[in-house]
Amino acid sequence: MHKASITDLTAQNLGNKTVLIRVDFNVPIKDGIITDDSRIKAALPTLNYLLENGARCVIASHLGRPKGKKDSSLSLQPIAKHLSDLMNQNVFMCHDCIGETTASSIKNQPHHSVFLLENVRFYKEEENNDEHFAKQLASLADIFVQDAFGTAHRAHASTAGVANFLPSYSGLLVKKELTFLQSVFDSPERPLLAIVGGAKVSTKIGVLEHLLESVDYLVIGGGMAFTFLKAQGYSIGKSLCEDDKCELAQNLLDKAISLNKSILLPLDLVVSSSLDETNDIHTVDIQSIPDNMMGLDVGPKTIEAIDNLISLSKTILWNGPLGVFEIDAFSKGTCDIAKKLASSDAITIIGGGDSVAAVQKINQANYMNHISTGGGACLEYLEGKELPGIACIKEKETI
Ligand code: AMP
Repeated sequence: MHKASITDLTAQNLGNKTVLIRVDFNVPIKDGIITDDSRIKAALPTLNYLLENGARCVIASHLGRPKGKKDSSLSLQPIAKHLSDLMNQNVFMCHDCIGETTASSIKNQPHHSVFLLENVRFYKEEENNDEHFAKQLASLADIFVQDAFGTAHRAHASTAGVANFLPSYSGLLVKKELTFLQSVFDSPERPLLAIVGGAKVSTKIGVLEHLLESVDYLVIGGGMAFTFLKAQGYSIGKSLCEDDKCELAQNLLDKAISLNKSILLPLDLVVSSSLDETNDIHTVDIQSIPDNMMGLDVGPKTIEAIDNLISLSKTILWNGPLGVFEIDAFSKGTCDIAKKLASSDAITIIGGGDSVAAVQKINQANYMNHISTGGGACLEYLEGKELPGIACIKEKETI
């Protein structure tokens, strides 16, 4: 089933309508200055589409964690000013996100106006998904647009509750997320390769199990690979391991065999006795991990094997670094794979979190087909879970 998006709406449906748009303006602000405005810029195509089609835009977002209380340091005021500059039009800052004054200030301005509501998390009712609060938010508008993928896994009033009272559509950002992430499970161009790294099996097992159904090849790297290697009988020295997950790991490997899917685990590793001991670094095959050392990156044979799979594949999803990429000495595997993906002709989808940070670290973000804007939301989507902020968007067929 496909979700309805604002591109299903035209000037006929949008003209003279007020649209409530949930965006993710949770941007870093230092001393009143926005230090990274990429999330604000990312919302512009949706806002422009709505304005060009005659709508009045009312924007809602959270910022930080005010825990249900007003906190002037987490006001969206600096964002209103910044957005005005980016849009080259006045953005009215509302000093609340609900209430009579907010409603009347919106009604008193002409169409094509843009309003930014104050931080929705100033109300505890937001995170509690309080029905009355959601209704009050909804009463400001005629249509709801969900464009905050990063919070779509939360059932909050402004991300899901509001859709009980308004017809709901995805914005352009969420539409792009769904198009790419859905393509992994919904007739992808094959072969489909998933590269999954990161620290822990426990946080990724759901993703691995769900992906296994769909992929042709699966690479398991990063810290969690050691639980799989241990399950296979290798001695892994001091490497990260979740002993209680060895059985789960072995079950996944068995399932891959029964499904005739190919899983690549590390063949060799960069090991060291500690994270900061940069003069004690060796590359070893997985049969030879010294007892006093830990694997902190994949080695050259593994990188070459992953490169070969990338060359064979037409769709590639990557989630999670292959080593401790934050430390240069252990970042080669992650950076080399990011570069290889950037130069690949396959459809490349970077699934949130640290893999996004890695791609940005080496300036390859522009060469990927899709970089997910959701960390937790992306993981839950890849696990096959229903995201409340997406489930609430109406189905395309019902328009
Ligand atoms: P995640 O949030 O699960 O994607 O995990 C990301 C974290 O995994 C990063 O902070 C990496 O430093 C860490 N990581 C990757 N490979 C390893 C490894 N071999 N040993 C320890 N931590 C790792």
